[in-house]
Amino acid sequence: MTQGKLIIFSAPSGAGKTTIVHYLLGQLANDLAFSISATTREARGDERNGIDYYFISNEEFLHRIAKKQFVEFEEVYSGTFYGTLRSEIQRIWDSGKHVIFDIDVEGGLHLKRKYEEHALAIFVQPPSLDVLKERLTGRGTDSPEKLKERFAKAEKELNYAPQFDIILKNYDLETACKEAKQLVIDFLKK
Ligand code: 5GP
Repeated sequence: MTQGKLIIFSAPSGAGKTTIVHYLLGQLANDLAFSISATTREARGDERNGIDYYFISNEEFLHRIAKKQFVEFEEVYSGTFYGTLRSEIQRIWDSGKHVIFDIDVEGGLHLKRKYEEHALAIFVQPPSLDVLKERLTGRGTDSPEKLKERFAKAEKELNYAPQFDIILKNYDLETACKEAKQLVIDFLKK
């Protein structure tokens, strides 16, 4: 059984972490593979099962919890579960790559506590809560109720930043992407 490293990107939704993670996957394709989470939410836009997420039913999610198949899971929004499967991390390590995560703040800290020095936990900081709200609204993929829930969660999550190894400011996306790449390269060299 092989063990690689874990690169964790957490942030309130809308802070830009998904874009940064996709950039890194493109730039460091030989070293990194994306941890595909399981979720009970519906696919949005052009999301595909087994690529963006494993979209599963509530029943299957609960069954997998009972079988202790998750390293971590959260009810990120009320009634909607997200989780990282042990088998997903192992699948990636077995392929000789390190795992990169796009995960909520509590899930990210959970993984950091579990894997300690094998994990680099990066918090992506948006310029302000107002900018975050604009980005979430502009996405146009969520209902007004869902948006309200995302805003409330985002506000709470900003307070967790100091618990991460690194706070990466995403005021300018290109700069943030380049900084993220250097941080990951340095961590993988250790
Ligand atoms: P979205 O619905 O926007 O894709 O994701 C909502 C939130 O759930 C995001 O912050 C995303 O990073 C987080 N998330 C995605 N996968 C996981 C996971 O496996 N575990 C946890 N704890 N959060 C996740």
